[in-house]
Amino acid sequence: MGFRTLDQADLSGKRALVRVDFNVPMQDGAVSDDTRLRAALPTIEKLRKGGAKTILLAHFDRPKGKRVPEMSLKPVVEPLARVLGVPVAFAEDCIGPKAREAVNAMQPGDVLLLENVRFHAGEEANDRAFADALAANGDLYVNDAFSAAHRAHASTEALARRLQAYAGEQMRLELEALDSALGNPQRPVLGIVGGSKVSTKLDLLRNLVTKLDKLAIGGGMANTFLYAQGHDVGASYCEKDLADTARDIIRLAGQNNCKLFLPLDVVVAEKMAPGAPARVRDAGSIDDDERILDAGPETVERLCRAMSNSRTLIWNGPLGVFEMQPFDKGTVTAAKHAAELARSGKLVAVAGGGDTVAALNLAGVTGDFTFVSTAGGAFLEWMEGKELPGVAALTR
Ligand code: ADP
Ligand code: MG
Repeated sequence: MGFRTLDQADLSGKRALVRVDFNVPMQDGAVSDDTRLRAALPTIEKLRKGGAKTILLAHFDRPKGKRVPEMSLKPVVEPLARVLGVPVAFAEDCIGPKAREAVNAMQPGDVLLLENVRFHAGEEANDRAFADALAANGDLYVNDAFSAAHRAHASTEALARRLQAYAGEQMRLELEALDSALGNPQRPVLGIVGGSKVSTKLDLLRNLVTKLDKLAIGGGMANTFLYAQGHDVGASYCEKDLADTARDIIRLAGQNNCKLFLPLDVVVAEKMAPGAPARVRDAGSIDDDERILDAGPETVERLCRAMSNSRTLIWNGPLGVFEMQPFDKGTVTAAKHAAELARSGKLVAVAGGGDTVAALNLAGVTGDFTFVSTAGGAFLEWMEGKELPGVAALTR
């Protein structure tokens, strides 16, 4: 894919400016989940082993270019030191004298966290002078934050153009996984796109039908497709004004030899509420007061068969309202089947998206998937086929 990795870097004694994703969940000023801190471990360990000085750059929340004390990265220091097993120094600014003094005090192998880059307006403006000020403290640049790579900000883009730039270990894993799912996949490749709205996933659908061999559409957005094909969708969530768009996507799929799977049967209820009495209906034969809330058993079975006949799966969006039983069943059944195939090495299974990750966690299968991306917006933009500025800056 043409990006430089840390294996190609001369690290000894070098000051490595490392962009990480430390936008961690906090409760009452303390880190409540250290997953993102642990994700940075392989890169930091590699840098320390190579004798580099590791200088961490990150954003936290949205201070909008001002110093907001509640959005300081300071609370990350202790839990990070615990995860790493070594002390972590902190500088109260990411540029200027405070940053410079802290960097000057470092020995090879040391780790320093700089204060929230978004305390400066130059960060989100991708400002040159701000990027110069960041670059002044580094000899090389490492980006380990795929989740921030869809934004052209100073610490993800402009800085990468000022110093020799490398992909960190987590970034490398993510890019390799994504490449194995859409870039250079083993075929046939099957996609699953679900979730609530077609309107948020138009670019994604248009891109996927040109790349995939098969695409299953589920969730609320499948209702719009059913409606576009002349089926009655009763009281279901449905973007009727997008019927033409849905027909365009169906046509585009045909032109690109991408086989589309729309629901054969659906699970309906009169109310969208936990435990609401549910019935199975054939798609198209539902009553006026019924809402489609999940994929039906026949649809799920056909989807599982399609997985078994594929080598690669890329999945975004749940098949139903998985937050409420019994409407989690379609998503959970499909997720378990994908996990089983992935575990036995028959399927490369890659998934991403905020709710998708929650659904896979609910099904208890996240660990069995080949790769589950927690990158949110960056993952979706990648599925849309867009160039991510933070990745592009690593591939020059
Ligand atoms: P992701 O965050 O993984 O990209 P989305 O945000 O697109 O996924 O979609 C997730 C939401 O879609 C969930 O809250 C789920 O309840 C909703 N959803 C799925 N199926 C339906 C349906 N049939 N009707 C209404 N909402 C649905
Ligand atoms: Mg979502």
